[in-house]
Amino acid sequence: MSTRLRTFTGGIHPPQHKSLSAESPVEILPLPERVYIPLSQHTGAIAEPTVSAGDEVRAGEKVGDSTAFVSAPVHASVSGKVSAISVHPHPVSGRQKAVVIEREGDEWVEPEGHAEYSALSPGEIREVIRSAGIVGLGGAAFPTAVKVSPPERVKIDSLIVNGAECEPYLTADYRLMIENAEEIAAGINILMRALNVSRSYVAIEDNKPLALREMEKAVSVDTGIEVVSVRTKYPQGSEKQLIKAVLDREVPSGGLPMDVGVVVNNVGTAIAVREAVVLGKPLVERVVTVTGPNIRQPKNLRVRIGTPFKDLIDFCGGTVSELAKLVAGGPLMGIAQYSLETPVIKGTSGIIVFGAEDAGDSKEVQCLRCGFCVDTCPMGLIPCDLVTNIEKGHWDEVKRFGLADCMECGSCAYVCPAGRPLVQLIKYGKAKLAAD
Ligand code: SF4
Ligand code: SF4
Repeated sequence: MSTRLRTFTGGIHPPQHKSLSAESPVEILPLPERVYIPLSQHTGAIAEPTVSAGDEVRAGEKVGDSTAFVSAPVHASVSGKVSAISVHPHPVSGRQKAVVIEREGDEWVEPEGHAEYSALSPGEIREVIRSAGIVGLGGAAFPTAVKVSPPERVKIDSLIVNGAECEPYLTADYRLMIENAEEIAAGINILMRALNVSRSYVAIEDNKPLALREMEKAVSVDTGIEVVSVRTKYPQGSEKQLIKAVLDREVPSGGLPMDVGVVVNNVGTAIAVREAVVLGKPLVERVVTVTGPNIRQPKNLRVRIGTPFKDLIDFCGGTVSELAKLVAGGPLMGIAQYSLETPVIKGTSGIIVFGAEDAGDSKEVQCLRCGFCVDTCPMGLIPCDLVTNIEKGHWDEVKRFGLADCMECGSCAYVCPAGRPLVQLIKYGKAKLAAD
């Protein structure tokens, strides 16, 4: 393992709260009676349904696809009958069209795996990854086949595999690194082959010594995979911050990791890639951390995609007191939910359950010009002035202050003593500019 302990400028050190679920091995959630498979669970074009109400489907069968380059197919996560294709609550976009399947048994499509994946060409691996509907499982849900298909003019020399899991509360990736380190290493080898790179780095925060040890045991030096310990700091797991920490390269303003020769993937994505290529299994389940101060038994659960959040909460013993707030994702970048019928999608890394006493009731006051947000922003922005210009509608200034470079990490809002809704205003500013 590398002894480097690198990091980036800015960032915050919020309370971790990971001990709630970190020691809970991954359990398999019993199969749901009904699943809702949203046709958009990824960045890019929404898939079109490839089934109709009344059709019988098996688990692993494609139920939606798109011809767009930036998109991903979606698959039935259970066997049964399609009862409807209708609009349903969605954890990211609020509401979204979904294929509804009433489960009957647990029948799977015949898998076509490639145990000898070294015989596959990079193009063949990319096609398997696309067909399996694999997207980034860290939360961003960018289609993995697109990530590993850079334009000809771009030279990729390094793959970084993100095991930082820097958001408080979440422990799904941590459990995967402890319980499935060899599968992660196999997935990394496949991704390296797809990208034709000889170097990769598994970046893990230094507050996870057991994960560092297990991953170190699983990789061997002659495969070109190096395990790198990075400093525990939020948002260490963001792509640009990870690249800075591991390779000391700066992604330019408005640029992408590939502009500095790097592709970043998450450890869960590496496992999904291995399952797709070696076992012929599409992305129909994932590990989700169910945690928070108001859940009786915090757990890490292997869950079929499309399972309503209510099923997960019930399996964890329900809530301690009345549910006041439910967040999908981490507490800093996650999204508050309005329905327990909302399903787990490919990017759902966790759900966090709060009671009234933990949900927060901060009162906003005027900006104090303290500058804490400026010191904290990992992108080197001036959040206070950025949002002031958004409030005033000074859109040329908003662009000049680097709105497009904000990754909505929430670090500025976390440190703001005035309780300013900085991220909400930034999201509003982005939506306004996108609509004009
Ligand atoms: S301005 Fe954006 S990138 Fe900077 S701390 Fe705030 S949310 Fe994060
Ligand atoms: S941290 Fe909050 S109060 Fe301080 S300068 Fe930034 S916006 Fe203003």
